[in-house]
Amino acid sequence: MLLTYRALVLFDIDGTLVRRAGPHHREALVHGVRRVTGLETTTDGIPVQGMLDPDIVAAMMRQTGATRAAIGEAMPEIVRAAERYYVRVCPVLESKQCPGVEPVLERLTRRGVLLGLVTGNLTRIGWRKLERAGLRGYFRFGAFGEMAKTRAGLAKIAIGEARRRGWIARGAPVSLIGDAPADILAARANGIRAIAVATGLTAEEELRSHQPDILLKDLRELRLRMVEA
Ligand SMILES: [Mg+2]
Repeated sequence: MLLTYRALVLFDIDGTLVRRAGPHHREALVHGVRRVTGLETTTDGIPVQGMLDPDIVAAMMRQTGATRAAIGEAMPEIVRAAERYYVRVCPVLESKQCPGVEPVLERLTRRGVLLGLVTGNLTRIGWRKLERAGLRGYFRFGAFGEMAKTRAGLAKIAIGEARRRGWIARGAPVSLIGDAPADILAARANGIRAIAVATGLTAEEELRSHQPDILLKDLRELRLRMVEA
């Protein structure tokens, strides 16, 4: 049976669905680099918000003087090592959901809206984080940090998959909800609706300066008409 959804809503994870999830994610990246290359690195001084995990890893390695070639060569192994580590150590995150998340996901799902992920998290890290936050069941697919070079590229992959599988019709409304300027830019690059939520590190005023289509204090303010019409 082919079920067509009335709209697609893509969600960022950190600062949008889940926040203050602890140091495990950063530690996983540090562990991955150490495990594969022996290098001691840190995320200190790297503006990780809105960045894709492989870009964070590359920046960490550059701080130690690693060459572009060395970084590229080690990256696939580092990704796997970081994912394995995170899956092992990720704590229960049910109390770390952003305000209003679960009722909103529930409501959208009941209305026949397809939910997907567009996140800089590596694939297994993103899924594990959602699983531990009790939110995995709402999402059937996503685009993750190692799948494209930019967040706009990730959004493009997710939209393309939803269309190719016939989950949404051409012309169905598509929105991207995120807490960082990078999410707004990725939405705009794909010609989809940019919905910003001020539940992450970026202040409402700064989000506003990037001119999202809709700006919310948190997901409790989301209305169905914002993503359906
Ligand atoms: Mg975010």
